[in-house]
Amino acid sequence: APFTALGLLPALAQAALSHGYDQPSPVQALAIPQVLAGRDLRVCAQTGSGKTAAYALPLLQQLLPVLNAPRAARERRATRVLILVPTRELAQQVGEFLYLLARRCADPLRLAVLYGGVSINPQMLALRGGAEVVVATPGRLLDLVDQRALQLDQVAHLVLDEADRLLDLGFADELQRVLALLPQRRQNLLFSATFPAALDALIAGLLHEPIDLAL
Ligand code: AMP
Repeated sequence: APFTALGLLPALAQAALSHGYDQPSPVQALAIPQVLAGRDLRVCAQTGSGKTAAYALPLLQQLLPVLNAPRAARERRATRVLILVPTRELAQQVGEFLYLLARRCADPLRLAVLYGGVSINPQMLALRGGAEVVVATPGRLLDLVDQRALQLDQVAHLVLDEADRLLDLGFADELQRVLALLPQRRQNLLFSATFPAALDALIAGLLHEPIDLAL
C-alpha cells in the first residue's frame, strides 16, 4: 500500500484509508519519509495540498510508543508535539483531524486545541491531565503557559502551519517567546504557502539543516 511504502505503519496507513486517503498527495509522499527520519523541513505548500496529513501521520507514528505505553507510565502526559497555527478555524480543523486519526491507531490521544477569542477556563480544565499533542494559536498558548496550565519543556516536535499567516497576523513576538520555552533539541517542521523576506529570520533561527520541499 502506498502509505506504508513511505514508512508508515499499517495502523497509520489504515487510519488514513479510513479517512478516505488511499494515495498520498505529492506533499505527503515527499514529507512523510523525512518527518519519520526526524529531519527539519521547510515546505512550500498551499492549503488543499494535503499538508495536514503530511505532518500529522508521521508525527503520530513517532508518538505511538508513548501513546501505547502502560497507563501508569503516561500519567504526566507531557506535551510532546506542539502545532502552532494562525487561526481558531485552522486549530479546530487540525485538532479534529488528529483526533480522528489517533482514535483509530492508539490509546486515546490526549489532545488540546487552544485558541483565543473564547473563555480560557475550559481550556485550562482540558489541560489538567496534560496533553501529548497541543494545537494552538500563539497568544492563547502563552496565556495558558503564564497561568501554568501547561509546560513546553518536553516538546520534541514543533510544527508551524501557515507560517506566513502567523507573521501576517502579527504573531512574530509571540512566536519568539514560545520558541524560547522549547527544548533546544527538537524537530521543526515549517509549512507556508509563501516565503516573504520577513520569514527568513524566523527560519534561520528555527530550522536545523532543513530539507526544502517545494510543491
Ligand atoms: P489540507 O491541505 O491538509 O488542508 O488538505 C486539503 C484537503 O485534501 C482536505 O479536505 C483533506 O481531507 C484532503 N486530503 C488530504 N490528503 C489526501 C489524500 N491523500 N487523499 C485524499 N484526500 C486528501
